[in-house]
Amino acid sequence: MSDGPEAYMDGSKKLTDEDTFCFSCTPEKKCFTKCCHDLSLVLMPYDIMVLKNRLGMKSGDFLRKYTSVHVGFESGLPVVMLKMEGPYLKCPFLEEGKGCSVYDARPGACRTYPLARMARRSKDMEGVEEFFFIVREPDCLGFRDCKTWTVRQWKENEGLDEYNEMNDIFGELLQAKTEAGVEHLTADQIDIFYMGCYDIDSFRQSFLEGPNLERYMEDPEVIEVISNDEKELLKYGMRWVKKKLFQGGCLSCAGASCSTS
Ligand code: SF4
Ligand code: SF4
Repeated sequence: MSDGPEAYMDGSKKLTDEDTFCFSCTPEKKCFTKCCHDLSLVLMPYDIMVLKNRLGMKSGDFLRKYTSVHVGFESGLPVVMLKMEGPYLKCPFLEEGKGCSVYDARPGACRTYPLARMARRSKDMEGVEEFFFIVREPDCLGFRDCKTWTVRQWKENEGLDEYNEMNDIFGELLQAKTEAGVEHLTADQIDIFYMGCYDIDSFRQSFLEGPNLERYMEDPEVIEVISNDEKELLKYGMRWVKKKLFQGGCLSCAGASCSTS
């Protein structure tokens, strides 16, 4: 199962919230946990935050221990992947015979399967338009003896809304890169991207705890919020990267006239 979901995606059926599909994943199925081996599992910023907290780790330690990073061939941006382990390329969080040891903190991609989510945004529209496709991994028996779900029910059952909200903020950042016409980042810019999006504990230390001029220029109420809420800090980190690398200037002057932007 090393191919990405797009290899098995049924692109002919575009699903929205009230459309239905049939799927059932239970420990009784012969294929149970087969899908947790030999995966190309890209971790999104929110996946990393939730997992490192579940494991009681700092983001830097989590990233060093469990992930590999490469610069995307097309995007030119750092991509974080979960490192598989052992001869059978097992997900590090799979307990053989038991299942996912981090089930309540499993990544968005594990929650979304057997769907794949596409999010489209345009300048004329607030937020994003989302739709889904069915992904049929060849060894997956989830489509037999299955239960009918609407897409909305699946999203609720899997707790996907908060993952999608955070992924859409990350998507804004990728869109800003495209709009800015930036192709390649320098090594320093890659470090900024990596820290603001993935290594949130280092971002906290650098932005909130060190002598940082950008912090002093920010609204104290914003600083209060991001100091006390890590999810808000991550949203801020992604928007800080967007502004810094692709829009110019500091986050506090986004949309306003400012001598530094
Ligand atoms: S039904 Fe599909 S998703 Fe569930 S364990 Fe089997 S292979 Fe994995
Ligand atoms: S995080 Fe859990 S559900 Fe996802 S691949 Fe690993 S063991 Fe399977």
